Amino acid sequence: MRTLSVQLVFHRSASGKPFLVAEPPREGVCLMTRRLFWEDAYATEFDATIASIDGNQVVLDQTAFNPRGGGLVSDTGTLAGVKVLEAIKVGEDSIAHVLESAASLAVGSKIHGVIEWSRRHRIMRMHTSAHLLSAIFHKQTGALITGNQIEPEKSRIDFSLDDFDREKMLVYCSQANEAITKNPLVKTYFMKREEALQIPGITKLASVMPPDVKDLRIVEIEGYDLQADGGVHVKSLGEIGKIEPLKFENKGKSNRRMYFTIP
Ligand SMILES: [Zn+2]
Repeated sequence: MRTLSVQLVFHRSASGKPFLVAEPPREGVCLMTRRLFWEDAYATEFDATIASIDGNQVVLDQTAFNPRGGGLVSDTGTLAGVKVLEAIKVGEDSIAHVLESAASLAVGSKIHGVIEWSRRHRIMRMHTSAHLLSAIFHKQTGALITGNQIEPEKSRIDFSLDDFDREKMLVYCSQANEAITKNPLVKTYFMKREEALQIPGITKLASVMPPDVKDLRIVEIEGYDLQADGGVHVKSLGEIGKIEPLKFENKGKSNRRMYFTIP
């Protein structure tokens, strides 16, 4: 029996299209980039083969660079010693690395990638913090997440919430920090669409899935939250340390915005 509440709408792009759906690597699809960050979010270096080059955009057969999307900023780092400005999604399954210059690179050659770990680890801590906060706000108020921006230094979450009560929101933040001290595990796994559909409340999510998606990537904070999600997270909540609320803003009718950081 699953007793966790399921947060249905977490990441939304600027267009309002939910970013929740992810598929595991598929065999034999040549254009897809294998997402090494799904297999090990702590891998900081990797080897790959260049699949295509378009100007300064380089697509590899596999990558540890988590691309920009769904409110998360991209990783940075280097490929063959050349600066990676950002990684972006191309089409359904590919990830392109935007390089300072791709002049020295050739399709088919091997390449070594290095992730800027200090930035990436903060993104992971911020991202898991955002899931935890949204789970607690949702549990306490029923609020849904209408937008978010996860960045290394400061992040924000938008809630659809009628009340604008700073004191209460500070209490929810304290509850999040209490959860962090208990250090529950954060697990990621894939779930068949049919199985996911049986989790109470997930139907709404399923209804926005493209029809060809067979599997969802689930991120579970044990005892607190279960979400379909394609991003990078820490292994357990203790790694976050502490969430510091920075500012609460009233963004009209029923939209509340919270800024937070982690020391
Ligand atoms: Zn997420």
